[in-house]
Amino acid sequence: MSKQFGDAKFHKEGMVKDNAVEDYYIYSNINEIKEEDEKIKNQIDYFAKRDSLTGLYNRDYFLTLLEHQILQSDTDARGDRFSILMMNINEYREINEVLGYIIGDEILKEFGLRLRNSVQPKDMVARCEKDQFSILVPDIKDLEELRTKINRILDNISTPFIIGDNEFQITTSIGVSIYPDDGMESVSLIRKANIAMKKSREVDINESIVYRDSLDKETQEYFWMKNDLSKAISRGELFLNYQPIYEISTNSLVGVEALLRWNHKKRGIVLPSKFIPLAEKTGLIHSIGDWVLMNACKQNRTWQDQGYNPIYVSVNVSILQLEYPGFGEIVERILEESNLDSRYLHLEITETFFAQKCQLIEKTIKQLSSLGIKLSIDDFGTGYSSLSQLCQLNIHNLKIDRSFINGVDKNINKNKIVRAIISLAKSLNIKLIAEGVETWEQLKFLKENNCTMAQGYLFSGPAETEQIERMLMEYGKS
Ligand code: C2E
Ligand code: MG
Ligand code: MG
Repeated sequence: MSKQFGDAKFHKEGMVKDNAVEDYYIYSNINEIKEEDEKIKNQIDYFAKRDSLTGLYNRDYFLTLLEHQILQSDTDARGDRFSILMMNINEYREINEVLGYIIGDEILKEFGLRLRNSVQPKDMVARCEKDQFSILVPDIKDLEELRTKINRILDNISTPFIIGDNEFQITTSIGVSIYPDDGMESVSLIRKANIAMKKSREVDINESIVYRDSLDKETQEYFWMKNDLSKAISRGELFLNYQPIYEISTNSLVGVEALLRWNHKKRGIVLPSKFIPLAEKTGLIHSIGDWVLMNACKQNRTWQDQGYNPIYVSVNVSILQLEYPGFGEIVERILEESNLDSRYLHLEITETFFAQKCQLIEKTIKQLSSLGIKLSIDDFGTGYSSLSQLCQLNIHNLKIDRSFINGVDKNINKNKIVRAIISLAKSLNIKLIAEGVETWEQLKFLKENNCTMAQGYLFSGPAETEQIERMLMEYGKS
């Protein structure tokens, strides 16, 4: 380009004198064009690197800076650690939805400005996605220094944002990853900062969290579970164990509790406490819950068809299933399809949720009761259900949580609590089942205090269908 200009000048200088003025104009015009070109080039360059709303670096350029930083860093030399901070605006979605994107944009601009002002010029601040910002801190001497920087950011964000006539209290969650401790590639550093940011939001708003290895394991576990759980039913990986429930006065087997298991092809048997919360979070609880109900009812019907004395099967249901408007109809259909009489089906609801959502599920509970299904409050003693709730909703059984049974024969306080629960149940005409009975002493105490039923390792842990059949055999065929 410059050679062309040079050539043009030389050519013009060799021309006749009359052309000198014109020559001057052409020459100065070329210089202006050159300057203008340079300006445009700089502008294009600027916009290619910047986020147009906040003026901070954009995502693509942030990644380029990060790659460059990785290349520069000599991992052997101590002191060459650098860090990525990733943060978001916890309230952004609501503000955007309720007050509109114009206010939302103003919040983003102000947030970006405060970030920029909280750190040093050498720190590289970017807006990577909607309300997600990242900072590359090029050299960190120790975690303390980083912590001070993070605290300064949190301090600056905590002052209310004033946009027009509105005042907003904004909070942020910060995730941190450190090179080379948390990874030597941009992908893993970003991923880990992101995980830490999400975790930070779960733990506490306005709290920063430095990436830890255990977080990664937790997240990996979450992902394989989430992926595989949706296929567990179609792959035939779910199955039920049954734990026998005995009537204490007659020592006879009266029911079984269905307990769900997941046989994962790589990870073996996974217990419900691990995957039920995930199933609830992802909505899979509805299909899994239907599967459990159907299989438990069919199994109980099969035992009856085989000629064993009828017993009831007790199925744990999640509060989300009970909140689903068509749950009563689903249960009715399952009873019909499995051909099980409704008196042989009990449903267990954990006390904590029952107490919290009692009014919301009232209609469904009454519908289930009218079908002839018995309802049990599980883990009783751990929540705060009121007596009137229990009476109004026609609850049939209370299952005393195993934390009260454990030590009931030794601990005077537990002893008093269990006695009180037993007399409460009697006065309300509700049956009692003691969970987690493990010793003869516990059973003796329960018998002396007229507790109705018991289940626990003393009798049997959760067992396979065939084992239950052997127990039913002992109990006798009708
Ligand atoms: P839960 O309904 O209170 O079930 C009793 C739990 O205590 C079972 O654990 C059982 O194996 C265990 N257990 C029984 N007897 C004893 C004993 O003597 N000592 C001790 N230490 N433990 C005993 P599991 O099978 O791991 O189930 C845990 C929880 O998962 C259940 O607590 C229930 O809330 C939930 N769950 C199980 N199956 C299902 C299901 O199909 N749907 C739903 N929504 N939740 C389920
Ligand atoms: Mg239960
Ligand atoms: Mg329980």
